[in-house]
Order: sequence, then C-alpha cells, then structure tokens
Amino acid sequence: MKKIAVFPGSFDPFTKGHEDIVLRGCHFFDEIIIGIGHNTQKNRTFSVEVMQGLIQDCFKDNKKVKVEIYSGLTSHFAKQVGACAILRGLRNTTDFEYENTIAQVNNHLNSDLETVFLITSPSLAYISSSIVRELYKFGSDVTAFLPYPLPKS
Ligand code: ADP
Repeated sequence: MKKIAVFPGSFDPFTKGHEDIVLRGCHFFDEIIIGIGHNTQKNRTFSVEVMQGLIQDCFKDNKKVKVEIYSGLTSHFAKQVGACAILRGLRNTTDFEYENTIAQVNNHLNSDLETVFLITSPSLAYISSSIVRELYKFGSDVTAFLPYPLPKS
C-alpha cells in the first residue's frame, strides 16, 4: 500500500526549513502532500493560492510531492487523501510542547493516524515563517530563507 504523509502548516511563507522536512520525508514516504491550511479568520501575508503555486514550482521535478489547500481539521484532510501519517518538524522545546498536544488530539480523532516528527537540520532551525514575514514587511531581502524566488510585486 502506498505510504502517504500529509505535511500540514500555514506556510506563510513556506521556508527552506519546511523544504528540508519534505525532502527528508521523501526518504520514507511514497507521497507527501503539503497541506496549506486555509483559515479564513487569519490574515495572511502570502495568499494560499500564491503559496501553492510557488511550492508546486519548487517541487516540479519531484514526483512524490503534491501541494493542496485545505480548510478544517488536519485529521479530516489526512483521512480524505488516504494518508497514514502527519509529518511535522521540531525545532525546539517550544515546538515540542505545542506539537505534543496536537499529535495526541489528532490520534484521538483518528487512531490510525501517526504523527512523525523530524528534528530540524541545525543550519535551518532558526528560520521561522513569522520572522520571514516581519523582515518582508519592512522591505528586507528574504530570498536566503526561501527555496524559490518571490514574484515581483
Ligand atoms: P503551523 O502554523 O501549523 O505551525 P508552520 O507553517 O509554521 O505551521 O510550520 C509547519 C511545520 O513546519 C511545523 O511542524 C513546524 O514546526 C515546522 N517548521 C517550521 N519552521 C521550520 C524549520 N525552520 N525547520 C524545520 N521545520 C520547521
């Protein structure tokens, strides 16, 4: 049976840290679906549609990776796409505290769904979407943190 994992997140924006988790996840999953969580209550800096296009471009030569937009619960989305696992990255103990709770709730909602964590590569651990957004808003060049060129605005 095909082993499918969902890599869910806000990805506002998708960074080199996220790319690293996907590429490493490809070693043990047949397919990785990057799920861009769409929360209509949240104001984004990079729209989900723009981000989907940029991530798709970034993985255009990688047949294992797909990019979808979803709203609602991650465990429902995972079930809908036939995933056996949720893939997440862990940077530090703050991530751990948060992820631990979410993983347990997801397991309660769907006991067939495992959450698989990858420890961030040390050279990318300091990258966060929130810092990139902040720099971007103040006009800093953020290309070093992103695995794709940003379209000219
Ligand atoms: P969310 O809003 O769900 O936390 P994010 O887009 O911030 O979504 O992150 C998605 C996943 O990627 C999370 O598991 C997060 O811990 C992980 N992640 C974020 N930044 C990095 C990084 N620099 N290296 C590895 N994993 C990361």
